[in-house]
Amino acid sequence: NKRVKIKTILEQNPIGQEITLMGWVRTKRSNKNVSFIALNDGSVITNYQVVADPNLIAEEILKKCTTGACLKITGNVVESQGAGQSSELNAKTIEVLGEADPEKYPLQPKKHSLEFLREIAHLRMRTNTFSAVFRVRHALAFAVHKYFNDKGFFYIHTPIITASDAEGAGETFKVTTLDISKPPRTPEGEVDFKQDFFEREANLTVSGQLEGELAAMALSEIYTFGPTFRAENSNTTRHLAEFWMIEPEMAFYDAEDNADLAEDFLKYLISYALEHCQEDLKFLQSRLEEEEKSKPADQRSEMGLLDKLRFVVDNEFVRITYTEAIDILRNSNPNKKKKFQYLIESWGADLQSEHERYLVEKHFKKPVILTDYPKEIKSFYMRQNEDGKTVAAMDILFPGIGEIIGGSQREERLDLLLKRMEELHIPIEEMWWFLDTRRFGSTPHAGFGLGFERMVQFVTGMGNIRDVIAFPRTPGNAEF
Ligand code: ATP
Ligand code: MG
Ligand code: MG
Ligand code: MG
Repeated sequence: NKRVKIKTILEQNPIGQEITLMGWVRTKRSNKNVSFIALNDGSVITNYQVVADPNLIAEEILKKCTTGACLKITGNVVESQGAGQSSELNAKTIEVLGEADPEKYPLQPKKHSLEFLREIAHLRMRTNTFSAVFRVRHALAFAVHKYFNDKGFFYIHTPIITASDAEGAGETFKVTTLDISKPPRTPEGEVDFKQDFFEREANLTVSGQLEGELAAMALSEIYTFGPTFRAENSNTTRHLAEFWMIEPEMAFYDAEDNADLAEDFLKYLISYALEHCQEDLKFLQSRLEEEEKSKPADQRSEMGLLDKLRFVVDNEFVRITYTEAIDILRNSNPNKKKKFQYLIESWGADLQSEHERYLVEKHFKKPVILTDYPKEIKSFYMRQNEDGKTVAAMDILFPGIGEIIGGSQREERLDLLLKRMEELHIPIEEMWWFLDTRRFGSTPHAGFGLGFERMVQFVTGMGNIRDVIAFPRTPGNAEF
């Protein structure tokens, strides 16, 4: 297989050499004398031009080179006559690897809406937009590992099947080995759903944090990067039932160290994409510019995608406490919205995405690290502050996204942790393994979770989270 990728041709410009290209036809233009085939193999956004002379390539072959067909083409790389690319391929032989009926091929050579493409997720990666998004996603995933590896963190694989619900939000999917037609029964004859994972209760993980803490209290600095599952029966542009989360967990870190790491990490990922995904980002920026044109003038974004990304890298994030944020929200009344004002009247209420977006997009116009939330609205494992009312929580809010990271310094003091768990009626005996780390050699530690799809959304500018994961899992969506 001496196939050369389009990316390689563009980088090496092998004028005069004979090469073999394989890929899918995007478009074909023909006249009596010649056919031009725009071919794409997914290695780069650019389509490569193939020139087919009907004196060399049989008419019945050329007829099959329709949009969507897969071709193997051998020929000579020559200087391009037209504008745009520096070279093109003069075809000597074309083999049609897979035909595509031009009448039935769902991806016609025209602009399709994202909604339509969501319906054909099995083919949408063949478009410029989606191939660009998934190349950027790949680069970001690679950068995650590079960042932590360079810092000496260890990659831990936490389980996907677990009995714990770290967030305690009751959003778990049950795992079952149960034969629905012959379910296990309690002595009273009731269906025993508690016994469904080989006679134990189990669910799909909502977060690898608790297990990550165990690892950090042995290896010091670790991270997990894996799929997490939440039975969110909500249809937002920011939530999936299955999403990927990056969760570093560090012994000997306090809340400030945690925030410093998070800010540095986010900036690193964005810089990495800016450096390695230029062409794809430029393409995604241009498609956003098109989208902007259809909006009323006063709602258009002032900055292009690349400038927006550079801005985040170049500026310090704002750091404020929950209490300070509430004060800001109280003193501002954007668009004189009653609802907005009402929601923030009492200290202790959770911020709605409307509030988060106001702080980030209107008030500070920068990413915001919000800390020290009321303990009632945060999870049991967060470290309690001296005031007795707040915990050392941290949410990082991004423009256009809202919450991108949730984290905290963890409660390492056994007595305080036990008291909090009792208050929340968390079964202490079942969590003996978690509590053991506080019983034996406890230490201050901290960590956070970055929603990977939200990060990909931010970097690619895609408005809907369903468009940054190949096969989104949302209510009613599991076919492919
Ligand atoms: P939200 O308030 O947006 O529902 P959360 O506070 O429930 O998020 P956390 O439990 O803090 O989420 O999870 C850590 C991170 O995982 C979030 O900051 C977010 O980036 C991401 N995340 C959470 N839920 C989802 C989801 N359903 N789909 C995609 N990403 C998610
Ligand atoms: Mg949530
Ligand atoms: Mg939240
Ligand atoms: Mg959160």
